[in-house]
Order: sequence, then structure tokens, then C-alpha cells
Amino acid sequence: MEFPYKPRLYQLETLRRIRSGLKNRYICLNAATGFGKTPVILSALLPLIDRGYIILWAVRTGNETDRPIEELKVINERTRSRVFGLSYRGKRDMCLLAKEKFPEGVEHSEVSYLCKRMMKKCPYYNKYLANFRSMLPLYISKSPLTYTEIFDLSRRLGICPYYAQRGLLRFADVIALSYNYIINPFYEWSIKSIIPFNKAILVIDEAHNLQNIEINSDHITLGTVNRSKLEAKEYGRKDLLRSLEYIEERMLEIYKSLRKDEDKEYDPETLLPESSDIFLDELLSLGEYVRRRKLEEGKRPRSSTYHLARFFELAIKVKGIKGIAFIAERENSNLRLNIWDMRSSEVLSARWSLFKRCIFCSGTLEPIEAFADIIGIDSYMKISVPNFYSREKVKVYLLKGVSTRGETLSEEMVRRYTRSIVSFLKIVKSNSAIFTASYRVQEELLKGGLEELVMNMGYKVFKEEKSMSGQKSKRTLEEFKKTADEGKAVLIAPMGGRFAEGADFPGKELQAIFLVGIPFEKPSVKVKLYIKYYSELYGSKGREYAYIIPALKRAAQALGRAIRGPNDSAVLILGDERYRKYMRFLPEYIKEWYVDINYGMIEKIDVPWICKPV
Ligand code: SF4
Repeated sequence: MEFPYKPRLYQLETLRRIRSGLKNRYICLNAATGFGKTPVILSALLPLIDRGYIILWAVRTGNETDRPIEELKVINERTRSRVFGLSYRGKRDMCLLAKEKFPEGVEHSEVSYLCKRMMKKCPYYNKYLANFRSMLPLYISKSPLTYTEIFDLSRRLGICPYYAQRGLLRFADVIALSYNYIINPFYEWSIKSIIPFNKAILVIDEAHNLQNIEINSDHITLGTVNRSKLEAKEYGRKDLLRSLEYIEERMLEIYKSLRKDEDKEYDPETLLPESSDIFLDELLSLGEYVRRRKLEEGKRPRSSTYHLARFFELAIKVKGIKGIAFIAERENSNLRLNIWDMRSSEVLSARWSLFKRCIFCSGTLEPIEAFADIIGIDSYMKISVPNFYSREKVKVYLLKGVSTRGETLSEEMVRRYTRSIVSFLKIVKSNSAIFTASYRVQEELLKGGLEELVMNMGYKVFKEEKSMSGQKSKRTLEEFKKTADEGKAVLIAPMGGRFAEGADFPGKELQAIFLVGIPFEKPSVKVKLYIKYYSELYGSKGREYAYIIPALKRAAQALGRAIRGPNDSAVLILGDERYRKYMRFLPEYIKEWYVDINYGMIEKIDVPWICKPV
């Protein structure tokens, strides 16, 4: 069977183009949300398994690894096949011992340290060595397996889930895993030691994220130094205190030289005392000691001195490499020092040739030429799936007379935006999102009374806040979605944030979106360096690649929240007249269907789910 579903518009054509396109080393596939990329690509690639190839499906975060495996289960069922696959996760999710000892959760570095020290004595590892082979049929018969299924079965059998999934790798034909195992040489060994990359067809899902991969990046804050001082005192290393105070003083000087939210370049070597190599060695061995002692005492094996030493070691190692910058940022009452690796093209281009074939896919890959430049490929096949949404169900308006251009919004502009949003909500009468260009713009609208106005209309308001914890944002999102049937909730969040990019809102959960502004980065030193670096690499296109396209991709991602399938209805407002200038960077359905409207005329818009009086 070529495709195990009743094919929707363009699905069969795309599947066939992928198959025939595999004579090219690289394929770039742009298909808007809801197209069904996963079943189409999987169906195109599965026949290659019989020729000895393995499908590696790479996703941005571990949370997304189950989706292709769930899809594989359905395909297996419909085609009566038995292709085995699994979603692969790191020790942080798969270590039974860490979950027992630290139920509150641990960082990746902590769990890998725990395993390094405890593996030989770990009962789950020993049971893995003794029993895994004989238990193999239990795992394989449940094919394919999500990581939770591997974890639950292993827990019942008393076997280490992490090593069980590694043991299963050699039987898997489809493996879903996070980008890290493909892109980061530090993690790749875990897969590469079992799966030969040159026998793998690599699919990079949501590939537009590749531009933001930061492999050699790290950061510390004043808090890191402060905690290091406490560790030095607690573990009797007062000899290191003076040097730590020296670092703290230099950091405070930088902090005082910056205004709130300002940034600048710094030189990591000027922060270190004399004989820095000896100092860093000492600091690192204290960090090692602290981690060991904490583990022995049953505490999480973390150490700020260890992190601080590693940070400066990395900084010294990468200093002088073109494309790596050192940026100090003042955040509220703290200073953050970053090592920032901007070299996506250089780092990534060396990776792709390791694989037999690579397919890069996303709903926001366009313009594909820019994407290909940024990830370092020059010869590829391009597949752009035409617009398949329904013209009757998706309405797009470009608002004239409003813009977030400039450092701050004038009172008049705040008034225009709030008035437009109120009119918009009056007419759409459904769950809506106000996605703003930044937290700054969001705050200005809230100060201008937006929240009260919206609440007075009977809507419940949900806001994404700066530094919101993962738990709180999850709860906020769940509450927002619960109101889908009443259609009486408004989400206010910045574009590029958790809600505007990571969240899914099928059906009535979110139908109306109002973008306030274009989410350009503020013109910080960091952004200027990024543009300069990209201009050196790509000449006149540098600014477009570094600054304009990423902003428009954030806007496109935010708009895509309301349309998760070809039958979804949505009303979308591009609330900034500058969108016209950048229209070529937006998805096809926006370019084809947008209609100009003045900000004062918003009550004239068409809402597909509301019948107009005859
Ligand atoms: S062997 Fe497995 S359960 Fe034991 S410490 Fe390592 S990862 Fe954790």
C-alpha cells in the first residue's frame, strides 16, 4: 500500500516527489501545519528499510519524540506490517535510580554523573546485564515503543530503562530522537556507536529551528559565583575565596556599567585572577569533590564551582574563534555572562554529509534558499507544498494605521491597538490570542488598560509572563484550552515564546489571532554582532538572514497556532502595516489571501463561524 490513509490534497504527489527526490542527498520540504508531513514522509521512506536503511527522525526537544512513533504504530496497523521503532530519550528521563533518589527531578549533567559513579552498583544495570536478553521478546513483541512504554515495562522488570532502550536500538528501523544526538558531537556517540550514520536516512522535523542551535554556548550569573563562594567556604577551601571575590568584583563592575536590559561584549580572560590555569584546575577539583560528597550524602550531585570552572575553560578554549561572542546582559538585579556560538552554518554543514540522505521539513522553511544557506547545504531538492487550506475557512487581514515601530509605543498607538483588539474580540466571539512583538509591547498594552477592557467584555484573560515556570505555563495553557466550547478566553503572549511556538490548539481551542507588531529583536549589542557576523558570511543577505527572516518566522509560527488541519477555521490579523513590506517571507496562505483593512474598520471583517444577517 502506497499510503495507508485516504490521501488529502497534495499528499500523494508529495510522497512520490520525496521518493523520486531521494536520488538527491538533501531534500527541503515546506508544508504548512496540518498537511500530515509525518505520515507522508514515513510512508515515502519505509520501503527503504528492506534495503537495509534506518530512519532517524530528529525533533527539537525530547517531548516531541513520540509523535512519529505513534504514527508508525498506525501505519503498521493499517498496512499489517511489523516495523519496529522507538522514541529515544536521555538518562534524565530514563534513569530509574535518579527518579527514586531525586523524585523532584535532576539536570542532565547530574544524572550522567550519578550513573558514571553508581552504574556498577546499580541494581537496575545489573539486572539489565543479567536479564535483558531473555526479556527481549517482551519488548520487541510490543513494537513499536514510545519511551514511556519502554520505561514502564523496564520498571516492571526491574531493568534500567536507559540501557534497555540502548539495547533495543539495534532492532529498530525507525528511531525518533532529539536534535542533540545528531548535531552535537558530545552526545552523538550514544547513537552512532550502535547505528551507522551512513546507513541512516535522517529526517529533521521543524527544521527552521536549526538556525538557533547553540552547541558551544553556556552562561553563568552573579548567582553562580555567589554559590561558588559558599561552596568554597563550606568545603574548607578559603584559599579559593579571594579569586572568586575577584571574579565577582569584575562582574559587578560590568553590571554597574549597564542599564536595565542592556548588554555589551566582555573579555572572559579579564575576569580571571593571575595564574588562571592553576586557579581553574583547583576550582574544578573542588567542584568534582563537592559533587562526589553530595552524592554520598544522598543529595543532588550539583556544584556551582564545577559549572564556573567549566564555563571559563570553555570560554578560554573558544576565545578568538570567529562566530563566537561573549555577551554580558543585565537582567533585573542580576548579570548574565554568555558564551554565544552563532556558527550554525559552519557547525551544521559538517554534520549532514555523515548521513545517507537528509530530509529537512517544516511549515516555515521558506524562503528555502535562505534556510539552505544557513544550515550549510548548497545542492538540494526543494519541495513546496501549495496552499491547501480552505479560502472560506481562513480569513487574513493586514491592519493599516498601526505599527510597533520604534523604542516605545505612543499613547495614540496603544489606544489604536486596544481599540482594534476590543472590536476584534467583539466580532470573533471565540477563544483568541493576542500575540505581541515582545514583552515590552505586551506590558505597554497592559499598562494601557487592555486587560480590564477585555475582562469587561466577559473574557477570561491568560497571560504568559517573563520567567514563568514550566509548571505554571502548563497549567495556564490547560485552563485556557478548557474554555474552548464557551469561546470566552483570551491569551496574551509574546511571539517566539512558549505559547506562540510550542503549543498546539486544535479545533475551537484557538480560532482568532491578533498579532501586535512584528517580533524583531531589540537592537541590542548581541543582535548587532549577529547581523555583522551574518553579513560577513552572506554579504548583502546577512541582515535578512540574521534579523528579518527569524522575526517573520516567529510571526508565521504564531499565526499557525490557530490552524492545525485543513478543516480548521481561523481569523488572523497582521497588526502592523510593515507586514506588507515583508509579505514575501510569510507563508503562502497569508500572501495569497490577506486583505487590507483600516484599524478603525475591524468590525467589517468576515468571521467564518458567524453567519452574517441577510
Ligand atoms: S544504570 Fe540506568 S538506572 Fe542505573 S544509574 Fe545508570 S541510567 Fe540510572
